[in-house]
Amino acid sequence: MTEELFREDATLDACEARVTAVDAAGIELDRTVFYPQGGGQAGDRGVFVLDDGTELQVADTRKGAAPGAIVHLPAPGQEALLATLQPGARVVARIDRARRARHMRFHTATHLLCALVPHAVDGCSITADYARLDFHMNEPLDKEALTAGIARYVAAAHPVRHRWISEAELDANPGLVRSMSVQPPRGQGRIRVLEIEGVDLQPCGGTHVANTAEIGAVVVTKIEKKSAMTRRVVLGFAA
Ligand SMILES: [Zn+2]
Repeated sequence: MTEELFREDATLDACEARVTAVDAAGIELDRTVFYPQGGGQAGDRGVFVLDDGTELQVADTRKGAAPGAIVHLPAPGQEALLATLQPGARVVARIDRARRARHMRFHTATHLLCALVPHAVDGCSITADYARLDFHMNEPLDKEALTAGIARYVAAAHPVRHRWISEAELDANPGLVRSMSVQPPRGQGRIRVLEIEGVDLQPCGGTHVANTAEIGAVVVTKIEKKSAMTRRVVLGFAA
């Protein structure tokens, strides 16, 4: 079980941590700022700064086999350095902030798209270079209208915040569940809900910016008809 510092504060660049497990497949820590690939969002890259100042390159982050486990995948060529790491060792875990910032901007922009396109989402991918959302629908979508809609929300500077809700609270508030653009999963006890004030409310475990103004200039670069009932919207940063 790794303490997930990125869930409460997506602005954290680094943390001190202790190695709890290490093998050729990867490294587990007692706490981390590295987001593991999930919910469509790519895993973080970065470095572990070891006690003697050497840096171990982390190429990706994934969920481990055990519930709550997060595995940091070493980059190729790090085998010798990895062999020196033992459980109990202290490291400073530091993410590639520039890359994560792009994930956060795109991820928050996908929530704006959910508000603009009132259809179920059946696929999502968020990377540093583009984001895409697949909507279950057959109506045509207008690229310029969606780009303008996103720009309006960005210009309006809506606050973005998360909170945790128990299943008991959800059961007691059917109106809250109805107001969500994506229905919450059940069976996990508590659910992380992401709210863009006045725009969108949905369960989400990803990392987001704190205000839509931080998204900056994001544009719809492509709309594709992936199947009879799937329209794919691709987002990019304006040049
Ligand atoms: Zn999200």
